[in-house]
Amino acid sequence: MIDDMFGNITLSVIKPDAVENGYVIPILSHIVKAKFHIIALKMTELSKKSAKKFYAEHKKKLFFESLVKFMSSGPIISIILEKKNAVEDFRNLIGNTNPVYAKKGTIRNLYATSLEKNAIHGSDNNQNAFKECLFYFSSREIFLKENL
Ligand code: UDP
Ligand code: MG
Repeated sequence: MIDDMFGNITLSVIKPDAVENGYVIPILSHIVKAKFHIIALKMTELSKKSAKKFYAEHKKKLFFESLVKFMSSGPIISIILEKKNAVEDFRNLIGNTNPVYAKKGTIRNLYATSLEKNAIHGSDNNQNAFKECLFYFSSREIFLKENL
């Protein structure tokens, strides 16, 4: 069950800019080399409504409308990743929200184009990781073996 993985899973999204720029494979390679295990992965596209729901915590921010437009502008890759201490380790792997401040070698340092178009999302705490996994994936999609 997904509950058993609480604390050891995170949700990532390869954002429309990175998909458009051809960075899906390099980014996945980076993630796998860092010993994250891919539990579920799909290419999808957010409607404006879904993008607003996903980023609801930011709805009062000045950048919200632009962010929603960007996140619904093209295909994305949503991914559930497993690793001990996944949330924190993955935030370290992707780097600061603003690529200008992202440490050298982090995914945002390597692949982001701006503060908004920063290539990748990573959940910020275990509770949100859990919620976000179920935002993008049904439990059937997460537990493929149970569907055989
Ligand atoms: N963002 C933006 N302008 C800002 C801050 C954030 O466009 O001033 C975008 C950026 O794409 C970021 C997303 O909004 O990844 C969510 O912001 P958050 O502060 O949650 O950053 P994250 O958790 O993604 O590092
Ligand atoms: Mg965030």
